[in-house]
Amino acid sequence: MPTYRAPVKDMSFVLNEVLNIGQYQNLPGYSEVTPDLVSAILEEGAKFCENELQPLNYSGDREGCTRHNDGSVTTPKGFKEAYNKYVEGGWSGLTQHPDFGGQGLPHVLGFCFEEMMISSNHAFAMYPGLSAGAMAAISLDGTDEQKQKYLPKMVEGYWTGTMNLTEPHCGTDLGLLRTKAEPQDDGSYKISGTKIFISAGDHDLSENIIHLVLARLPDAPKGVKGISLFIVPKYKVGDDGSVGEFNNVNTASIEEKMGIHANSTCVLNYDGARGYLIGEPNKGLRSMFIMMNAARIGVGMQGLANSEVAYQNAADYARDRLQGRSISGTKNPEGPADPIIVHPDVRRMLMNAKAFNESSRAASLWCGVLVDLAHNAETEEERQSAEDMVSLLTPIIKGVFTDRGFEYCVSSQQIFGGHGYIAEHGMEQFVRDARIAQIYEGANGIQALDLVGRKLPANGGRAIQAFFKYAADIRENAKGDDRLRPFTDALGAGLKDLQSATMWLMQNAMQNPDNAGAGSTAYMHLFGHVLLGLMWTQMAKVAVDALDAGTSDPTFYENKLTTGRYYMKRRMPEIKAMLAEIEAGADEVMALDAANF
Ligand SMILES: Cc1cc2nc3c(=O)[nH]c(=O)nc-3n(C[C@H](O)[C@H](O)[C@H](O)COP(=O)(O)OP(=O)(O)OC[C@H]3O[C@@H](n4cnc5c(N)ncnc54)[C@H](O)[C@@H]3O)c2cc1C
Repeated sequence: MPTYRAPVKDMSFVLNEVLNIGQYQNLPGYSEVTPDLVSAILEEGAKFCENELQPLNYSGDREGCTRHNDGSVTTPKGFKEAYNKYVEGGWSGLTQHPDFGGQGLPHVLGFCFEEMMISSNHAFAMYPGLSAGAMAAISLDGTDEQKQKYLPKMVEGYWTGTMNLTEPHCGTDLGLLRTKAEPQDDGSYKISGTKIFISAGDHDLSENIIHLVLARLPDAPKGVKGISLFIVPKYKVGDDGSVGEFNNVNTASIEEKMGIHANSTCVLNYDGARGYLIGEPNKGLRSMFIMMNAARIGVGMQGLANSEVAYQNAADYARDRLQGRSISGTKNPEGPADPIIVHPDVRRMLMNAKAFNESSRAASLWCGVLVDLAHNAETEEERQSAEDMVSLLTPIIKGVFTDRGFEYCVSSQQIFGGHGYIAEHGMEQFVRDARIAQIYEGANGIQALDLVGRKLPANGGRAIQAFFKYAADIRENAKGDDRLRPFTDALGAGLKDLQSATMWLMQNAMQNPDNAGAGSTAYMHLFGHVLLGLMWTQMAKVAVDALDAGTSDPTFYENKLTTGRYYMKRRMPEIKAMLAEIEAGADEVMALDAANF
């Protein structure tokens, strides 16, 4: 059976030493988070995830969710009890606004807890994850009345939320959606249509489910400019907040799927359900993007979180499993064979995952701080520049972290040999569960297009210029110390190649947009390497400073430097191949007739 140990020490290192969150005392929520409180929250979160959620991961996968003959849906054994503990522990309101009953703590702490929840039980973590997206949209675009009516119960966790975009004939291209919203005399709307693949769409964890649904008004323009967003509760809600009669949101079925079996993926029929417009008519996609952006970073963290737990189990296994002898001389002469961790190829797989996990955690948490700054920094300029950076990094975190997270789940499974393919070790579940993160919340190809087509040119390239400046400052700060040369050299080369790739796209995408489309995934991954190389440079500088200051835990910092050097020397050179792929352009990609594939 797999195990999980929450990486509390590494999270504390990133929060306190790399990001130095103590410097943001002026932001709401941050003044309370002393290092002691941070460690108390991380320790409590770790206990909950390790002791309550992780033990349900395997059994939840085996049992899955059930749709009963009366149309109701139940989650696997133990999920309801665990969810009740999640609510009782106040985890649902950790980062939510105090006006609605939340604790108002920084998002960056919420990101730490989210990673732990996903590592311990991806399918469970999706129930509160979807709620968080729905709460974000209501908070930003809801009327005061809507906020008062829905948010307090959602913040407490008594009600959960969902996101309803997808229909049978439209996933990526939401302009095609057909669900109808007909205005009623009382100001509400009658919602009719079918949504598919709705995560957490129906279940027995909460008293009510608040669906956020994209639909079209009768006079709506065609395409994405004619989509509006509606709040559609599963059970109607009285003016006093009481839960009333069933609102005709019918669960037609639960999808049979590859992984995340303990999360109910539902086909929902809206049979004249009562809905309430949120935000402006025909501007629903804007509100939906608020949810999606919050959710996309969360999905990116699913890549990291699955990779982390798979890696931990692979490392344990590699220390135990005896096979063969080390090619550089026996390491375990007392035993019949050496543990497989002596073999360089096994180590290569472990190091790839470790180097990715630690740097993608740093990048995710940096993004968490930026989200807090975007909401709460004192000046408009600071808020805007944080928002620019979050917006630029979101498709990279979603696309790169989930592609690579899946890759490292597979290589960690590989370390188990044939035993990794057998269900009881749990490794094949990590692979199956991690796979969906590359697909939902906008498939990764769409993330790459979003990066190249929207995020790079936005505001005359303001965000990418700010990224180059930030990276140059970090590199400058690390220069002049021989121990940091592998970091500053590789980061410098990576930044140069990122500049070249950006310039090439700017010069060649206008005349032939297929050049951008054909190079976008390579560009996203090139950028991902530079982002992680930047994180390693930042962490390495902290590590040498700690060693010079005579830290009481030199092994931790030495290990950081070794893992970072691994990344800079062995993974960053992949950038060259990615640059070549981008600069090769679209000619051969587009040359064959469709019939010749
Ligand atoms: C388990 C699961 C849970 C889900 N949860 C939810 C949920 O909670 N709410 C919800 O609304 N949806 C949900 N989805 C739906 C999911 O977001 C969509 O499946 C996804 O967005 C892709 O849409 P599609 O399946 O229709 O694929 P399509 O849009 O048909 O795309 C197929 C392929 O073509 C590519 N492609 C399409 N258009 C372009 C283009 N213009 N340029 C380049 N490539 C393109 C895509 O990248 C993809 O690889 C879920 C799906 C699954 C499987």
